[in-house]
Amino acid sequence: MAATKGVDAQRVLEAIRVGIVVCGENRWQEAQAKMDAVGQRAGVEWHFIGRLQRRKLKWLVGRFGVIHSVESVAQAQEIQRRAEERRLSQVILLEVNVGGEESKGGFSPDELPEAASEIDQFSHVAVQGLMALPPWNPDPEKTRPCFQRMKSVADQLKTMPLKRINVHELSMGTSNDFEVAVEEGATLVRVGTALFGARENGQRT
Ligand SMILES: *Cc1c(COP(=O)(O)O)cnc(C)c1O
Repeated sequence: MAATKGVDAQRVLEAIRVGIVVCGENRWQEAQAKMDAVGQRAGVEWHFIGRLQRRKLKWLVGRFGVIHSVESVAQAQEIQRRAEERRLSQVILLEVNVGGEESKGGFSPDELPEAASEIDQFSHVAVQGLMALPPWNPDPEKTRPCFQRMKSVADQLKTMPLKRINVHELSMGTSNDFEVAVEEGATLVRVGTALFGARENGQRT
């Protein structure tokens, strides 16, 4: 996925021209303007990767192919409600706070199995895997244990008797560490600066 936050519509169009098929945005207002400007190009899918706020969820459901950053049962329930209203099924990933950081959202690996059992009941939410944004470290080798932990959390979920939830996607790895993430089982990497250069405001997320 190309993480296109902070990248203007013109450059997103260029990226699409050279083969990008998934764009990831983390702020609804910015995404909305860009999605309008880029239009519904055949084959391009938009994913939401930012922190979710309850009252923004109604704008996201049905507009993004995948919402990566679901971090509570309550958020999944709100997505369920909105998706049911609109008679669609919303694909989501469950965010795991793999580094145990206070500043970040996400399920702790310990609470995830129970939360997954609850979310498994939601008929209009299609969980397809897990997502993580481990603590930043300039040395990707230092992040490897986090990726390994994610893989084992996913493997643990796979042993549970879940009816709807799939855990085949592992969304992990950014410009700095995507190679290591892939070695550890990532199926989807989210790459921004390596494609587009440093963001003007220097923001990481
Ligand atoms: C910005 C962002 C990325 C991409 O980060 P880069 O370091 O620019 O590759 C990945 N994941 C999330 C959730 C982001 O917000």
